[in-house]
Formats: sequence, C-alpha cells, structure tokens
Amino acid sequence: MAIHNAGVLHGMVAMNVVRVENLHKEYQLGQQQVQALKNISLTVRAGEFLAIAGPSGSGKSTLLNIIGCIDTPSSGRLWIDDEDVSGRGPDQLADLRARSIGFIFQTFNLLPVLSATENVEYPLRHFKELDKAARRGRVAHYLEVVGLAAYAHHRPNQLSGGQRQRVAIARALATQPRMVLADEPTANLDHKTGEGILALMKEINRGAGTTFIFSTHDPKVIALADRVVEISDGELLA
Ligand code: ADP
Ligand code: MG
Repeated sequence: MAIHNAGVLHGMVAMNVVRVENLHKEYQLGQQQVQALKNISLTVRAGEFLAIAGPSGSGKSTLLNIIGCIDTPSSGRLWIDDEDVSGRGPDQLADLRARSIGFIFQTFNLLPVLSATENVEYPLRHFKELDKAARRGRVAHYLEVVGLAAYAHHRPNQLSGGQRQRVAIARALATQPRMVLADEPTANLDHKTGEGILALMKEINRGAGTTFIFSTHDPKVIALADRVVEISDGELLA
C-alpha cells in the first residue's frame, strides 16, 4: 500500500528529526524536588525506529513529552527538524506540534463518543488547507493503512484493545508528521496484539520513512527496535 513519503529520501529535509542537549527536568512535588531527567543528550535521525527502554519511573514519559513539545525542560536545548525550539512554550509550539509530531499513548486516548473516523479526523480540524472531502479522504486512507476500513463507524467501546491502538496510530499518521512518538504503545495489550502493533509501526516506518520513537519496558518489544537507548533514574546509559 502506498503511504505518504515523509521525505527522508529528499535532500532538502533535515537529517536529524530530534536533537536534545544537556536536558534536565525537575518536578516540584510539595517540598520534594524530583530529578526526572538528568543531562540527557540524544540525536534521532530521520527514518529511525528507536526504543527508549527503561523501568517504570525512569523518565521515559517525561522525555517523550519534552521531545513532543507538550512539556518543557528545566534546562537544556531541543531542536526539532534542526529548528532550535528551546525556550518556547507549549502554546508557541502548538502549530509545529500539530504538523510535525504524532502521538500514540499507552491508554490510546481516543474520544469515546466519536467513531473511528471522527477520532482520526480530530487532529485535522485545524488544517485550513483541507476541506471536508480532503479530510475524509485522508482519514479513509489511514484507516485502510491500519487495517480498519471496515470499522470506520465503530466507537472505541465497540473495538478491541488492538483495534483501538490501530485507530490511535491512524490518528497519529493523519497529519502526516515526520515523527511519531509512542509512549508504551503496547503496555495495555496482550503480547500477540502488541507484536502486531509494533509490526504495523515498523511497516509504516519502512514504507513511508516516518521516524518512530517509542518507550517500553517490555524486553520483547525492545527486541523489535532498530536502536535502543536505555534510561535509568533519569539518565541515559551509554
Ligand atoms: P516513566 O514514564 O519512565 O515511568 P516518568 O517520566 O513518568 O517515568 O517519571 C519520571 C519521574 O518523574 C518519576 O519519579 C515520577 O514520579 C516523576 N514525575 C513525573 N511526572 C511528574 C509530575 N507531574 N510531578 C512530579 N513528579 C513527576
Ligand atoms: Mg511513562
């Protein structure tokens, strides 16, 4: 199936989709300061299929949220597509985020009252260049990519866990982002279903060149990554 090409083969686009340098994140929890990330430096190249592996509480979600511009670091620098976005707040980054980054979450985060079609269409509603017909065409395409064309009118509670995560993948792809961030995308799925989700992500990575960064603590999922960076207690292990 033809999937859009995210541009890795074109010379004009940035080679590094993400770069972080000396990233720190502290949370204030009452009187206590939590060092969630300590001096993280990482470069992710266009087209990578990268796992961030670490136990619960090691900082995976914090790192993905900062890379995805939905949270900001306490210090350090961040580049998205070679653009220095350090110091810009989530509001200033809304447009870049909407167009460059797709998210997949552990708990799918679908809107329960919307159908599969409407969920996938949701992030496209601010794309003024797409009229309704173009939006619906794009949604139908990505539902087909994830194998859910026949479930377009189903609501999340009428779908299995694996099917819900496929809707979430279609939603992440619908904006045709250069990178997809997936925070423990298989954690709420049985092993076989989780493997299918990983295989689908890899197929899209290979077919369209979309960069995937996913977090996990499951050794079987880690084994499917092209590159693994390990995080422990907020630090990347060399
Ligand atoms: P992981 O995703 O690997 O389980 P997290 O990034 O969620 O880890 O958390 C890393 C550390 O930061 C943990 O000690 C966690 O308790 C803490 N933390 C995460 N979010 C917050 C928050 N909003 N406020 C305070 N502490 C937080
Ligand atoms: Mg987490």
